Amino acid sequence: MKNYQAEIVAVGTELLLGQIANTNAQWLSEKLASYGINMYNHSVVGDNLERVEQAFELAQSRSDIVIVTGGLGPTADDLTREGFQQMTGLPLVEDKESMKKIETFFQNRGQTMTPNNRKQARVFEGSTVLTNNAGMAPGMYVHYQSCHWFFLPGVPREMKHISQEELFPFLEKLTGKQRIIQSVVLKFIGIGESALEHLLSDLIEKQTNPTIAPLAQDQAVVIRLTARGETKQEAEEMLEQTKTLILKRVGEYCFGENDVSIEESVVQQLNRLGYSISASESITGGMFSQRMVSVSGASNVFAGSFITYQTRIKQEVLEVPSEIIDSHGVVSHACSDVMASNVAKKMQTNLGISFTGVAGPEEQEGKPVGTVYISLVDNGELVVSEQFSFTGNRNHIRDRVCLKGFEILYQYLKTKSNYN
Ligand code: ATP
Ligand code: MG
Repeated sequence: MKNYQAEIVAVGTELLLGQIANTNAQWLSEKLASYGINMYNHSVVGDNLERVEQAFELAQSRSDIVIVTGGLGPTADDLTREGFQQMTGLPLVEDKESMKKIETFFQNRGQTMTPNNRKQARVFEGSTVLTNNAGMAPGMYVHYQSCHWFFLPGVPREMKHISQEELFPFLEKLTGKQRIIQSVVLKFIGIGESALEHLLSDLIEKQTNPTIAPLAQDQAVVIRLTARGETKQEAEEMLEQTKTLILKRVGEYCFGENDVSIEESVVQQLNRLGYSISASESITGGMFSQRMVSVSGASNVFAGSFITYQTRIKQEVLEVPSEIIDSHGVVSHACSDVMASNVAKKMQTNLGISFTGVAGPEEQEGKPVGTVYISLVDNGELVVSEQFSFTGNRNHIRDRVCLKGFEILYQYLKTKSNYN
């Protein structure tokens, strides 16, 4: 079976100037993947005849299927037809149906049609007109020197309509039973991207199908596995095999798949263990709670938290003894441990977690910016009491602290459920 190579050429200076994002290419790529068509290139070219032609020539030289979006409208800067004509010498003829549609459009609105609107009805001789039920300019399909060219309007709504009604059925016919692409994203916490890559380096080097792509995201390190198979089932089985190989090595850091977040995983674990939790948040100022509450069903396990920001509140609400504050300060193991222990007592939860530290920009109690303490108490017993040094600006540090809290919880609960 032929392995089709596809590419998308988006025409429009707006895209180059960053005024709009190339969402057309994103949408089309995602759809084409499901037809098992290999998308090898995306390009964006401005409204300039020479450069449009160059982009088309490059596409013609390397791809079997080229999808062009934009530049089909009536104005002088819509140059897609002209660019293709310069390359191919194909004559443009007026498509009667499209012309009728455009005339009717203006008649219905009681407007006079300006001559440049005729331009939209011009199609290449011998092309297949792709009817635009959502707008005026039709799309076109041209088979030129063994390359399949699709011309679609730039307006996303119109582009999608024509794709659904004309492009996709065509691709189905063209490709017959094509390979299907399936993918899965594995999410990791507590291991850096480079360490993960190192542990999987031989697998990553050998990869062909499925492909293994490590990516660093904001809240996790992730690996995307993508498999191609004759059938969905075949692709899924291939994914499953590679996943098993990967998890054998680094499974202890993997907290979930696809859209699952670390807080969701933690809530799941707590539910499984029948465990409740409360928090005492100083440096995180409620971020931990906010993320817990974002998980539906969190109320089963999350009792609440005290945002104990000022020292006075740590003393008055959480009853951190003055002796601790006087001799150790609020940014200390001792204070953090009591915060965790007292919040769990007051809220009557199995677990209590605490966050205290220096977010900056100034140091505090002689402790440098980024010094953070996190403690975890389990049924009265102190099980985690750790000091960290984070770098970054104030809110970056606060984010990292919160994420670290989830990492600590995830790993603690995982070990705990292994013993239960
Ligand atoms: P029109 O008949 O409206 O002129 P057209 O086919 O000539 O349509 P363009 O003029 O290139 O298309 O784009 C029309 C509008 O569609 C743009 O102003 C922009 O909002 C949107 N658009 C164009 N290209 C893209 C793209 N690649 N991704 C997302 N939106 C796009
Ligand atoms: Mg236009």
